Amino acid sequence: MLLADAQARRDAMVAAIGELVQCESPTSDLDACRRVCTVAARIMGGWLDGPAHIEDVSGRPVVRWGAPQPRVLFLGHLDTVWPVGTIERLPWVATCDRLQGPGVFDMKAGVVIAIAALALMDDTTDIGLLLTTDEETGSSASRGVITEAIKRADAVFVFEPAAGEAFKTRRKGTSWYDITFGGRAAHAGLDPQRGVNALLEAALLVTDAVTWANPPAETTVTPTMLQAGTTANTVPDSARLTLDVRAWSADEQERVDEVVREWRLLHPEASMQISGGIDRAALEAESSAALFAQVQQVAADLGLPAPTEAAVGGASDGNLTAAAGIPTLDGMGAVGDGAHADHEWVSVHDLAPRAALAAGLAQRLLAD
Ligand SMILES: [Zn+2]
Repeated sequence: MLLADAQARRDAMVAAIGELVQCESPTSDLDACRRVCTVAARIMGGWLDGPAHIEDVSGRPVVRWGAPQPRVLFLGHLDTVWPVGTIERLPWVATCDRLQGPGVFDMKAGVVIAIAALALMDDTTDIGLLLTTDEETGSSASRGVITEAIKRADAVFVFEPAAGEAFKTRRKGTSWYDITFGGRAAHAGLDPQRGVNALLEAALLVTDAVTWANPPAETTVTPTMLQAGTTANTVPDSARLTLDVRAWSADEQERVDEVVREWRLLHPEASMQISGGIDRAALEAESSAALFAQVQQVAADLGLPAPTEAAVGGASDGNLTAAAGIPTLDGMGAVGDGAHADHEWVSVHDLAPRAALAAGLAQRLLAD
């Protein structure tokens, strides 16, 4: 029934995805984000009982529907990495088996799958949907509203794209460090010995940082940006360095965090200030295991192929909810490929099965 009902909604899902994709919404463009929220709220208003609300959270719009602190939270984002105007270069294309357009895979199709799943369910009393608009830049504004929304939750479904067809049961955690070095300027020819070279301090850290990686554990430490100096003949009095750290476990993130904070400068008069730290903790397999086992059962009941699972390097809001101790299943959104890439596309054939899986899993959890 669930699958047949979902199949019957497929054309409507394609049309709704088209509306969202054609309303471009880069994270940095607040007006664009407000417009896409309006479109999403209108689609929800047409398909679901009860109104969707657009709320302002730390100056950013979010869309909410259903219980504010539900037992099962459906979570997604409406922002994309594509600047307004990309649609002219990468137009919305819908054929009978593929959808293309900026943000279609990450994750406007996933948003529609989530809404369709809600529309398929008879009882959505204890379910809520939350769509944010700053996921692509790390969810700094919406982090609080997500944490608030999961207070009573037994489960969070994250409608980020699937990895191939697989659910994402492990995600690397991300940490970032913005490190400012202070020194003292001096003429590089007349009296360099009176200077304190901030660039040199940064460079020493950069060369050591590479050794903080842990290849067997696949922890990476990548210096990504370095700025220093004012003129070609001045000892630099400041330098600024950014480090990107990724790890499969919170333990590894903490290990690197300690090493960064214990760093000792070469020159006694040099200074160092660190901002940043562990940003999104790793999504470890334990938080997804039970939900993944249940989605296997739901797939079998629906007569769908057995779902597979994957570990991926990129972080999402699923990292936040898992770190808060809420069982989280990520990658519940569209099947396709090319997140953040020109060839981004979504499979039409998989839209209905994904919506049926989400609805079936939510029903199963709420029945317990
Ligand atoms: Zn995403």
